Amino acid sequence: MKKILVIEDDAHAAGTLKAILKARMDFECDIADSMKIARQKIRKNGHFMAVLNLDLSGIQEEEILDLLETKGVSPIVYASEFNDEVRERMIARNVLDYVVKKDDQALGAIVGTIERVHKNQSIKVLVADDSRISRSQITRVLKTQKLIVLEASNGEEALSLLKRNQDVMLLITDYKMPRMDGFELIAQVRKEYTNDRLAIIGISAYGSSLVSIQFLKQGANDFIIKPFLVEELYLRVKQNIEMLEHIDAFQKLSNLDFLTQLYNRRFFFDLGNKIFENAKRRNLELTTALLDIDKFKDVNDKHGHEAGDIALKHVANLLTGNFRSGDVVARYGGEEFVILAINLDRKQTNKVFDRIRELIKAQEIEVDGKKIELTVSIGATTRIFNTLEETIKRADELLYQAKQAGRDRVVCE
Ligand code: GH3
Ligand code: MG
Ligand code: MG
Repeated sequence: MKKILVIEDDAHAAGTLKAILKARMDFECDIADSMKIARQKIRKNGHFMAVLNLDLSGIQEEEILDLLETKGVSPIVYASEFNDEVRERMIARNVLDYVVKKDDQALGAIVGTIERVHKNQSIKVLVADDSRISRSQITRVLKTQKLIVLEASNGEEALSLLKRNQDVMLLITDYKMPRMDGFELIAQVRKEYTNDRLAIIGISAYGSSLVSIQFLKQGANDFIIKPFLVEELYLRVKQNIEMLEHIDAFQKLSNLDFLTQLYNRRFFFDLGNKIFENAKRRNLELTTALLDIDKFKDVNDKHGHEAGDIALKHVANLLTGNFRSGDVVARYGGEEFVILAINLDRKQTNKVFDRIRELIKAQEIEVDGKKIELTVSIGATTRIFNTLEETIKRADELLYQAKQAGRDRVVCE
């Protein structure tokens, strides 16, 4: 695994940074407390980022920055002061961040930047601008921060790139472009991509407030005037990405069951009702099943509640791993799971669920050296009643029959 090089002679500061990075992100640090050791360590390779104290005595910063550059390692620099001259020199060097070391918050800022840049590596940004120069200026800022960048020279190209890259998180678009301008592009994009999926930043040299209003009215989240400072562009990019990450975290929190990370019951009904209504309207095959762990109370009594939790997570993982992406698996309650599976006839339903039953029975779960054995009962119906609730009620009756008949079985109709 790649390490972070920390060039710092204050052993306490370096040690604290090392401990935080290990605890928060499981990152390893390599510490260099002198110019000589820094040279050796950089030459050895294998660093993902570097943190450089510019105040370090005896440091030849230009040499260190050159060495880092030849190895493709981006630095975060910090110092007790940054005047305009130093700032400009550091920006020209493509540093990830420059942090003023004046209080305790400096360390937090460094850790924050490392965390951000690490996440950036899997985030896609689409840049639409007809000027090659302007595009490459923007792209350089983004690539320095390790974001994945796609480029388009007009609105049409941007739209087709977006279609092929559904995971783009941020669109940065110019206003005046041939074929399709920025306003039209945003209008088209917003038909499909809502604010909680994609952020948009408008960027233009036509810096009148009317252009910014138009951008925002079409559905952009933010606006930047050319020419811009590197920091201004990146700070806005970062803010917009972090906003989407917060929305995503909230959605997960409210839709997923904390223990198993399956959909919770509330979200199951939101999503399930849509699938159910669609199947009903179009006369599609839909299987509704309830799965309940047998004698789970005994598992808790015998092995403890924590072991019970591990067993629940195990069953949840097994279920998600054995249904298709169009199917829905959710935690219905305590040790009960609900599954909506599409395109299975009655025979296939029986086969699929009996296989699940067998799988769960065959896999022993080991907790603290002790083995937990589980069996499950399943009620599954391929009938579609008037509502999803009624259909689930039927699955519950079949589950009850399975329990009455001795458990560890599937009752299917
Ligand atoms: P049956 O075969 O009839 O389903 O018996 P059972 O013991 O599984 O059913 P019962 O409904 O009597 O008990 C369910 C147990 O599941 C009781 C409850 O403590 C346990 N349970 C529910 N939620 C959780 C959980 O999140 N973690 C753990 N460890 N146990 C849970
Ligand atoms: Mg049970
Ligand atoms: Mg139960």
